[in-house]
Amino acid sequence: MATKRDYYEILGVRRNATKEEIKNAYRELALKYHPDRNKSPDAEEKFKEISEAYAVLSDDEKRAAYDQFGHAGFDQRYSQEDIFRGVNFEDLFREFGFGFGSPAIDDLFFSSFFGSPLRGGRRSGRGADLRYDLEISLEEAARGTAKEISFKRNRACARCGGSGAEPGSKIARCQKCGGSGQIRSSRRLGAFGSFTSVSTCPACAGNGERPEKECRDCRGSGAQIYTEKISVEIPAGVEDGSQLRVAGMGERGPSSPGDLYIFVHVKEHPVFKREGADVYIEVPISFAQAALGADIEVPTLSGKARLKIPAGTQTHTIFRMRGEGLPRPHGRGKGDQLVRVIVKTPTNLNEKQKKALAELGDAPKKGLFDSMFGAFF
Ligand SMILES: [Zn+2]
Ligand SMILES: [Zn+2]
Repeated sequence: MATKRDYYEILGVRRNATKEEIKNAYRELALKYHPDRNKSPDAEEKFKEISEAYAVLSDDEKRAAYDQFGHAGFDQRYSQEDIFRGVNFEDLFREFGFGFGSPAIDDLFFSSFFGSPLRGGRRSGRGADLRYDLEISLEEAARGTAKEISFKRNRACARCGGSGAEPGSKIARCQKCGGSGQIRSSRRLGAFGSFTSVSTCPACAGNGERPEKECRDCRGSGAQIYTEKISVEIPAGVEDGSQLRVAGMGERGPSSPGDLYIFVHVKEHPVFKREGADVYIEVPISFAQAALGADIEVPTLSGKARLKIPAGTQTHTIFRMRGEGLPRPHGRGKGDQLVRVIVKTPTNLNEKQKKALAELGDAPKKGLFDSMFGAFF
């Protein structure tokens, strides 16, 4: 606390940066230090720090106060809660494209700054969104799949029904704030005069009332964490990195629940390479198969299929197997499988085979040279 870094420095922006620049800087850093993505031990602290800097610099009044007084004077005027009040991180993160309600973020914002997720602080009245990362195979992406997933979620406490009061006890006006939900404190600050700061009452989380006796199970929070289990349909053809929204499966909120976002990760396949709706594969064939033609067996995403290799096929020729790829979006049919054949030069030949190949090699030698290099020699 004693050596707080400069907010502009934290976000890496100039002192006259526009709101747009400040937001862009915060977006970049938030993506980098999001506790869900960045597992280094100081990521959370970092995330908190940049969020605080953003909360101040994105607000004209707070920014002006900070510009004028610096950290020392500013911190006297605004409490941590004041700093974060008025910034809708929920909407902001949605705009940035990452889930708000991941456990890490909840911990960060709700326990440190806003109180419990269920009571107070939620201006919108909507529960937080949750994020779930799901990894599937390329085969599953090709045909679509149903997956059982389980994740932590909150619901109204079964014992108190969400009120936070021990059954039989009443909800009473908060003693600490007298029912206003806010704590005002004034202090004299020498040259700065006297400042009044208003912060959310920590005892009732801004509700103005609290249980006379706290519920034994939820210790007054009204919420209960439990493990939710659901089955989700992953559509055929799903792209790596796509997000599926499951409406209403997020955290419970005072008026409505948030949504669950499933981030789909398609695993790299050891054999197939995906290119949009097409898949690409390399298949070795023998010299004889290439020279004489053959009917070979080729793996596909749905099993095995046969592919005709015409006589005289060169190595690295690509054959297209129509409709053997993944479904295209919006029902526009299926992609193809592209098969590149790699002709394996024979080794460990016996005398008879060597002789046969030598005869084969002699015949077109001159013709081959002329057709390739004739123009130069
Ligand atoms: Zn309870
Ligand atoms: Zn209170």
